[in-house]
Amino acid sequence: MIAANVVRWRRYGVGGQELRPGTKSYRGGSKVHVIGSRPGEHEHLTTVGRGRHTGTFITLDMATRHLHTFRASLIRSPEVLRRDAGSSVGRVWGGRAEAEEVAARLERLAAEGRRTRWEGEPHPTPCRCHECLTLSPG
Ligand SMILES: [Zn+2]
Repeated sequence: MIAANVVRWRRYGVGGQELRPGTKSYRGGSKVHVIGSRPGEHEHLTTVGRGRHTGTFITLDMATRHLHTFRASLIRSPEVLRRDAGSSVGRVWGGRAEAEEVAARLERLAAEGRRTRWEGEPHPTPCRCHECLTLSPG
């Protein structure tokens, strides 16, 4: 399977001038498992992770650009495996090598999504979006 982390901050609102921590349902920085996506569509992914409010597992479709550090990962959590097995979304990778390949592709897609989402709009100042946090140390 593929794991990823939720961005700590995302741009939001008109022209991306506001910042929100994490996403509506996931805390920033939390780990999620990518269990699939709709055929031919990787802008959104189906994920399983612990919900922001309850701390219990949820299955959620979300924008790929709100995730980073995609990597192949072995799942041991019975709850995640159960949700994966019960999901009807298409799995887009098979073995470990393929998962690593897809993870690299999703990483590029997520970065591209963050770049183009607010194309031409300046970042708020100061900005803590994933792009800015990655560029500036500390
Ligand atoms: Zn920024």
